[in-house]
Amino acid sequence: MNGKGLIIAVSGPSGVGKGTVLNAVEAALREGETGSVGRSISATTRNPRGTEQDGVEYYFKTKEEFEKLIADGEIIEYDVYCGNYYGTPAAPVRQMIGEGKVVLFDITIEGSLALKRFFPEDAVTIFILPPSMEELETRLRGRGTEEDDVINARLTQAKLEITRADEFEFLVTNNSVEQARDDILAIIKAWNLRKTRQITATKNLV
Ligand code: 5GP
Repeated sequence: MNGKGLIIAVSGPSGVGKGTVLNAVEAALREGETGSVGRSISATTRNPRGTEQDGVEYYFKTKEEFEKLIADGEIIEYDVYCGNYYGTPAAPVRQMIGEGKVVLFDITIEGSLALKRFFPEDAVTIFILPPSMEELETRLRGRGTEEDDVINARLTQAKLEITRADEFEFLVTNNSVEQARDDILAIIKAWNLRKTRQITATKNLV
């Protein structure tokens, strides 16, 4: 680790397993030498699900509170997904980047592209693909009790999103969590070797 923070912006269709893969990446980075990994906790106006707690999975806000955060410049980027706002609070991300952490984001397509615009050298965009549409459908059906029309709407949405995969720098297929985790760890390693992230590497040599 060269002391410079890194943003890992991960997008992909609903059901592709972004959350599980990012948990595995986070666990591997915590065990590894870097020891410095962070997760961006987003603000959202959607209601908490199940056991979700404020400040853990999300900061849960009212629409008015969220709009005030935007107006006050406290949100780096935000998007609307299924009628709710989702956004990245600026202060914690800037602090983690300043501390040289690898910061993991599970974020919409527009969110990933926005982070890349703001941090061109210090953000990496990764799109997670399913092994096949049949597999994605199986995963979406296995996830819960949703009706057929909801599953079909998600599959249609997933196809639309997959057509935008080429706007990302890296594509990772989630054949297995371990494989996708290792691919993302390899991307992090390679990105940190870019010359733009090692500007002082030659200074002591010549
Ligand atoms: P969910 O409601 O399932 O937790 O998340 C819905 C979507 O919002 C997911 O695609 C997730 O990646 C995205 N999302 C979560 N936080 C943010 C954020 O801060 N910014 C953006 N742009 N998208 C987010």
